[in-house]
Amino acid sequence: MKHPYIPYGRQYIDEEDIQAVVDVLKSDYLTTGPKIHEFEKKVADYVGCKYAVCVATGTAALHGACYAADISANDEVITTPMTFAATSNSILYLGGKPVFADIDPRTYNIDPLEIEKKITKKTKAIIAVDFTGQPAELFKIKDLAQRHNLIFIEDAAHSLGAKIKDSQGNWQKIGSIADITTFSFHPVKHITTAEGGMICTNDPKLYEKLTLFRSHGITRSPGLLIDKSHGKWYYEQQFLGYNYRLSDLQAALGISQLNKLDSFIKRRREIAALYDKAFSESIFKNRITIPYQAPHTKSSYHIYILKFNLSAIGKSREEIFNKLSDLNVGVNVHYIPVYYHPYYQYLGYSKGLCPIAEKLYENIITIPLYPGMSNEDVNYVIKSIKDV
Ligand SMILES: *Cc1c(COP(=O)(O)O)cnc(C)c1O
Repeated sequence: MKHPYIPYGRQYIDEEDIQAVVDVLKSDYLTTGPKIHEFEKKVADYVGCKYAVCVATGTAALHGACYAADISANDEVITTPMTFAATSNSILYLGGKPVFADIDPRTYNIDPLEIEKKITKKTKAIIAVDFTGQPAELFKIKDLAQRHNLIFIEDAAHSLGAKIKDSQGNWQKIGSIADITTFSFHPVKHITTAEGGMICTNDPKLYEKLTLFRSHGITRSPGLLIDKSHGKWYYEQQFLGYNYRLSDLQAALGISQLNKLDSFIKRRREIAALYDKAFSESIFKNRITIPYQAPHTKSSYHIYILKFNLSAIGKSREEIFNKLSDLNVGVNVHYIPVYYHPYYQYLGYSKGLCPIAEKLYENIITIPLYPGMSNEDVNYVIKSIKDV
C-alpha cells in the first residue's frame, strides 16, 4: 500500500478556528469590523511592534511596504534572488529597480557584504528575506541601512515567531527590528487567514500612510482631512491607494490561529530536529547537508531544505525529486532564483548575477514540514530519502 500523500506544507485548522469564522458570519460585520483591529493588535503584541496593518495578502503587504518607503521610478532596491517572486515584484509595482545581492553559502540568507557592494547613489531601500524561517543578518543590515540612509524592509513571510540575538546578547523576536516588517498568512505559512498579510512598523508616519494605502488612499479621520469645511459625510481620497483590505472572517481566523502559534512553532522545531538528527547519520555523510543554523538565530522553520551532493550520490536532482514524488513525499524547490524567470529575463536580467544562489538552486530539495505532521509521517519521509 502506498503511503498517503504528504504535502511539503499545509494549514492546521481546528474546531475553534471554524467556530471563530462562523461567529463572524452571524455577526453584523463581514469586513472592516471589530476583528480587524483585534487581529492587528494581537499580531503587534506578539511581535512587539507599535503598529500593524493587515492586508489582503503577503504580496499586498510587500507592495505597501515599498509604497510607504516611497520607492519610485529610478530608485534601486537591493534584495535576494533566493525568494518568492513577490519580494522583488513589489519593487517593480512602484517602478523601482530590483538589484540582486548574492547569499551567504551557509545560511542561504542575503549576505550583508554583498549588499554593501551593490549600494549606489540610486539605492533607496533594502529588502531582506528571513529565508526558511532563519532571520537574515538583521542587525548588520539595519546598521548598513542607517549608515547609507536607506529604508530597511524585512520580508518575514517565512519567519513569524523567529528570534535573533541583538548586540547585547538578548533574544529579540523579529517584527520590530527593520523599519517595516511584512508577514504572509497563506496556508503554508505559520498561521493562516487563507489569504492575508500584515505590515508592522514602529513609525507613526508609515503607519498612517499604510492605513490609507490599504483602502483607496481614502481617509475619514478628522485630523487627517486636508479640507475641513465639509460635514460629517465627508471623506477624502488623498492619493492613489488600493482595496487591499482583509475581511473580518479572515481576521477572526487569524486571531484563533495566533492562539496556537507557539505550539505550531514548537512542533515545527521538533520535526526539524528529527530531520537534523536523521540526516546527520553516517550514511548521509558527504551526501546531504542539513540547513545550517547560525547560533545567534532561532528559526521558526517555515520550510526544511536539504542540499544534495549530487556527484557523490550519483543521481541528478530531478531523479531524486521524481522518486520522492512517486513515493508520495511532497517535495518542492525553494527557490528558482527570481531573475531566472522569463519576465525578469525580459527586463534584462541575465544568469550569472548571483553565483552562490545559482549553485545552491541546483542542489536543493524542500521536504515536508508542517505542524500537523505525525512522527510516522516524518519517519516515512526519512525512510523514503534513505531508500532513494
Ligand atoms: C509567501 C511569500 C510571499 C507572498 O505571500 P502571499 O501571502 O502568498 O502573497 C512573499 N515573500 C515570501 C518570501 C513568501 O514566502
